[in-house]
Amino acid sequence: MGLPQSTIVRHPLTYRLLEVRRVVRITPSTVRVTFGGDALEGFREQSPTDHVKLCFAEPGADLPVPPVIENDMWVAAPVEPITRDYTVRYHRPDVRELDVDMVVHGGGVGSAWAERAEPGMRLGVLGPRGSEVVPMVHDWYLLAAEETALPALGRWLEMLPAGVRVIAFAEVSGPREEQRFATATDLDLTWLHRGDAPPGTSDLMERAIRAAELPGGTGFAWVAGEAGCLKPIRRHLRRERGLAKEQVDVDGYWKRGIANHDHHEDD
Ligand SMILES: Cc1cc2nc3c(=O)[nH]c(=O)nc-3n(C[C@H](O)[C@H](O)[C@H](O)COP(=O)(O)OP(=O)(O)OC[C@H]3O[C@@H](n4cnc5c(N)ncnc54)[C@H](O)[C@@H]3O)c2cc1C
Repeated sequence: MGLPQSTIVRHPLTYRLLEVRRVVRITPSTVRVTFGGDALEGFREQSPTDHVKLCFAEPGADLPVPPVIENDMWVAAPVEPITRDYTVRYHRPDVRELDVDMVVHGGGVGSAWAERAEPGMRLGVLGPRGSEVVPMVHDWYLLAAEETALPALGRWLEMLPAGVRVIAFAEVSGPREEQRFATATDLDLTWLHRGDAPPGTSDLMERAIRAAELPGGTGFAWVAGEAGCLKPIRRHLRRERGLAKEQVDVDGYWKRGIANHDHHEDD
């Protein structure tokens, strides 16, 4: 019998203009923005790593340029929206609300917008384009994330079946950045503190994963964070641990020195 395979479920590509309902600093560096509106009708998400493209306005403009969608595809146009990828932290269809946790890092358009977000502001939301459905039938899961991937880590922990063995590592600057996640899994979560080292420069996650004792049976490893830090982790899991391609998802969520890093480039 082969290993369980992931599948991609495609969703109709939809652009929505949503209004900010609430803004809460959940940690010193992370802002939870709750978007709302009737436009959320039909919004679909189902997997831990489901994400949208937030669409930002040009400097000085009030609203983003909407993307041009033809035949369910985003097509090139003379003027395009400024987009960045963000995870769907929570979706509450009953009240038409969507939460996104945005890291404020002092850098780009996403971070700057999050820093000044307040109720009443409007933003474009494109997607999710699809959901990567990882069969939740493995004997164990190895999960590792830094700040930008904590929303997805939270979703993994909330969605995985009760009692399944999970070994997780979460890298943040210090104790004040730690978050609490609800889970029914048999979870062993270790917070890693990088202190004053800038984000995306530490090998804490790599060292923790190398030292981790993985249970027997078949497992699945998901790791997300800064692309450069993840390279040795991807190699370690595939070559040294001998995990098969379908057991490993290591996703560069951002890359030092690069704006709007394309995470599909890292595979
Ligand atoms: C599938 C997916 C899901 C994601 N989910 C989330 C999420 O839920 N929440 C979230 O906050 N981010 C998330 N990200 C990461 C986010 O898209 C990037 O951090 C993005 O670069 C932020 O855009 P920006 O405009 O703030 O910075 P950009 O304009 O893209 O970059 C400007 C500069 O800031 C640097 N930079 C970017 N991000 C960081 C960071 N976190 N820390 C330090 N420096 C940084 C870049 O290297 C660049 O030098 C996700 C990415 C992917 C691919």
